[in-house]
Amino acid sequence: MKQFTIISGKGGTGKTTITAAFASLVRNAVFADCDVDAADLHLILAPEIEETIEFSGMKVALKDNEKCTDCGECFEHCRFSAIDEDYNIINERCEGCGVCELVCPVDAIEFVDRRSGSAYKSMTRFGPMAHAVLNTAEEASGKLVSLVRNHARLMAHENDKDLIIIDGPPGIGCPVISAITGVDLVLIVTEPTLSGISDMKRILGVADHFNIPTTVCINKEDINSENTKEIEDYCKKNKIPIVGKLPYDNIATSAMIDGKTIIEHSNGILSNKIGEMWININKILEEGS
Ligand code: SF4
Ligand code: SF4
Repeated sequence: MKQFTIISGKGGTGKTTITAAFASLVRNAVFADCDVDAADLHLILAPEIEETIEFSGMKVALKDNEKCTDCGECFEHCRFSAIDEDYNIINERCEGCGVCELVCPVDAIEFVDRRSGSAYKSMTRFGPMAHAVLNTAEEASGKLVSLVRNHARLMAHENDKDLIIIDGPPGIGCPVISAITGVDLVLIVTEPTLSGISDMKRILGVADHFNIPTTVCINKEDINSENTKEIEDYCKKNKIPIVGKLPYDNIATSAMIDGKTIIEHSNGILSNKIGEMWININKILEEGS
């Protein structure tokens, strides 16, 4: 089974639009939305949820009121203001550091799982999909990305699929590392802007550190030919294949509004270019077999 992740330096570069377009071009894949902090692949793929799994990213303190003697030690020592003046624990603020348990003289504190989000196993018009939602202000998104990837692998086995297409998170943090670790190929979607070039170089550094084969797509390549040339020169020098150069086209937005992939929405230049890009990617995936 092959795994392929699409990432970008920041949100809004067209990463999800391209992932969704790929979904309508393949017949043998499971899709995983690992952009769990701002999931939006579901807006286009319209998954029907078949199973919901509660996700707990961390353990938090719970006080046993029967045992508590109101001594106030936990209140004095909690550095996260997670205990109020009546010595009640404020669940959302607790960082699970364990200090209150250490200072409590009567063992009135224990630790329990806190629900941090939900993961879903679903079906779309293109095939199975694993996705998730992280609750507001929760930070365990790397763990949730791993859970979504595990679900995608299980669903691929169950449905006899031989490819997992992962919509990765933006940036270079822990969730991105969780989304690219162990995959067969990464596609970095970048734009020809100064920040786009800088973001692309930073992610390439991360992928290179983990020894993951990487390709690049220049989205909106016609908005700045000088910067596009700089990306091409950089990729050539570092032997990174540019698998696609996509023109600016506002059908990407209208397709998103219609809840369709670009391929479903139109058979114009952008659709053709994405189709050609998928052929290039598929070839590289097959060569890596
Ligand atoms: S576990 Fe740490 S953060 Fe949570 S209530 Fe206890 S002392 Fe405060
Ligand atoms: S330290 Fe223990 S006994 Fe004291 S107020 Fe906190 S929970 Fe109650």
